[in-house]
Amino acid sequence: MGEVINVVDIFGENVFNDSVMQERLPKKVYKDLKKTIEEGKDLDPVTAEVVAHAMKEWAIEKGATHYSHWFQPLTGVTAEKHDSFISAPDKGGKVVMEFSGKELIKGEPDASSFPSGGLRATFEARGYTAWDCTSPAFVRQDAIGATLCIPTAFCSYTGEALDKKTPLLRSMEAINEQALRLVKLFGNTEAKKVTPSVGPEQEYFLVDRAKYLQRKDLIYTGRTLFGAMPPKGQEMEDHYFGSIRERIAAYMKEINTELWKLGVSAKTQHNEVAPAQHELAPIYTQANIAVDHNQLIMETLKKVAGRHGLTCLLHEKPFAGVNGSGKHNNWSLTTDNGVNMLDPGKTPHDNIQFLLVLTCILKAVDTHADLLRESAADAGNDHRLGANEAPPAIISVFLGEQLEDVLTQLISTGEAKRSIQGGKLMTGVKSLPDLAKDATDRNRTSPFAFTGNKFEFRMVGSSDSIASPNIVLNTIVAEAFADACDILEKADDFDMAVHDLIKEYATNHHRIVFNGNGYADAWVEEAERRGLPNIKTMVDAIPALVTPKAINLFEKFHVFTKPELESRAEIEYEAYAKSINIEARTMIDMASKQIIPAIIKYTTALAKSINAVKAACDVDTSVQVELLTETSALLSDTKVALSKLVDITEKAAEIEEAKEQAAFFRDEVKAAMDELRAPVDKLEMLVDKDLWPMPSYGDLIFEV
Ligand code: ADP
Ligand code: MG
Repeated sequence: MGEVINVVDIFGENVFNDSVMQERLPKKVYKDLKKTIEEGKDLDPVTAEVVAHAMKEWAIEKGATHYSHWFQPLTGVTAEKHDSFISAPDKGGKVVMEFSGKELIKGEPDASSFPSGGLRATFEARGYTAWDCTSPAFVRQDAIGATLCIPTAFCSYTGEALDKKTPLLRSMEAINEQALRLVKLFGNTEAKKVTPSVGPEQEYFLVDRAKYLQRKDLIYTGRTLFGAMPPKGQEMEDHYFGSIRERIAAYMKEINTELWKLGVSAKTQHNEVAPAQHELAPIYTQANIAVDHNQLIMETLKKVAGRHGLTCLLHEKPFAGVNGSGKHNNWSLTTDNGVNMLDPGKTPHDNIQFLLVLTCILKAVDTHADLLRESAADAGNDHRLGANEAPPAIISVFLGEQLEDVLTQLISTGEAKRSIQGGKLMTGVKSLPDLAKDATDRNRTSPFAFTGNKFEFRMVGSSDSIASPNIVLNTIVAEAFADACDILEKADDFDMAVHDLIKEYATNHHRIVFNGNGYADAWVEEAERRGLPNIKTMVDAIPALVTPKAINLFEKFHVFTKPELESRAEIEYEAYAKSINIEARTMIDMASKQIIPAIIKYTTALAKSINAVKAACDVDTSVQVELLTETSALLSDTKVALSKLVDITEKAAEIEEAKEQAAFFRDEVKAAMDELRAPVDKLEMLVDKDLWPMPSYGDLIFEV
């Protein structure tokens, strides 16, 4: 059974959270820090000094020897540099443990080894990390010992964001400001803050570590580059929500314990659709903490796997032919006086606000579908989006029958008088129907679905940071709110103006609403008729970052400057090219050093055995001969495809311009990779299993 865990006792035990602060900080310091956290007031150096001291003492009690500014550079994963607390030894050779306010607030990692997309060329090489005190510090315990981790933002010398957190925090400010304007118009004057809440559902695969180590493709690229389908795939649908095996259960138990200690509210766990695939979802929290926690979840999933002889694969498509992994980003907006702006609510008055919010979101998603798509783009996700399993590459919004009906009424008559299924409510002229929370059915094929009191953006890749999608969501919705408030604040007849605006937005952006099957080919055609973008690959998606529309949007709300956007586009092209380059080179390596030699061994042995059989007695060896002929033909195809991939990969390396190079990798190198994979996967089905140089798909996904 293992030890009994008392969740209440361990939850957040390694987090410098509010109760720890309250307990350990002088009242005045605690108050000042709270002001900084809640209202964004500057933290004065004296207060910082006291906080740093208390944090250090607390961390040392937890066994910490080091501290680290924990940040999220544009690689999409977290980075950290560890410094120990020790001072220089005194004359007697003694050290003390030190940590100053300055060290808490600001760090200076060497920025030159992180991607900056040209920002460093124009600005300074220096990079600074700045404490994000809205996300609590924590002590992480692992093989290194214990480390005090301080969540930080990472900026250049001149304040250019070199990370994903800075723009996220800026986007949270933008939506806060605009949402406050909106709720105020509807009479909520008490709200002081509106915060985006995010709950990401994380999918992942688990494979046996010993087998993983026999596959160079998994080691270098996180996905299999060769592999024939096993006789059984996911067609029996027996894994989804199936009972969890002991070994996996022990792993999940440890994951939960580790996460709870770090204050991550791991809540839901279950098997996913594909064999060996699972999901973990925490309880939603404010966007920047959710982003940090998702990074901690990914780190913990990987780290703990090793302790159980497992490896966790976060790649979007570890195995061809079975479902890939994504991350559903659940998003809503909550006021500090407890109103979820995406909750349809009970009173008609709230419903008007809700319908305005809803139609603003429709407008935002329709206007900036390209940006949302871009925010979910990574090389791995190209294998998922539009591949009949994950949402299609076309952005559309699922509203469900009831809301769709309300919208249709609004568009056709300008008023919604009833809601379907018995229509609970028929009120005055401009009132709108009360919407039952669960009137929406589920639609798993929609990339952007309304699910009761939140939107679920389902395109995000499993290995990706959720920062970018939330930056985009916050900013595009801030823009739609701002546009609406600009009109409503000036209106003489507020009720009439809201009414007209809801109708206008519903009418103009109705094309983005789609409640049908997003996997069907008919939808692709229909979407094209509606003029919705169908952006199939990451390389096609990147230009959305630097359109005049995007630059206007992000500059208006101070989320990204134009150079910051340009740098991000540059980094993404490079990241794409690098990742395909590594895949191509891994294939070359595996084919040359493992696969071809194995096939030669097999064919040689087969030829020898044919001769031996023939020599022993004159029986029919046509089966062996046929096998030898077929294998040899495929071997020669393999060799031809390998040489071609080598040439093309070399050519790709010579291209200097990032966008052009990325496009070449997508069009030419990937095609050459497919050409090499095809004969090898056929050979895997012919060659003696004992001679095949790596574990098969069946070994990997069914024998965990
Ligand atoms: P599903 O049935 O869609 O798989 P899960 O329970 O796995 O749902 O995950 C739903 C996620 O949505 C959880 O992380 C949950 O905390 C989050 N969530 C629930 N309500 C909200 C909300 N109002 N805003 C943001 N996220 C939410
Ligand atoms: Mg789920």
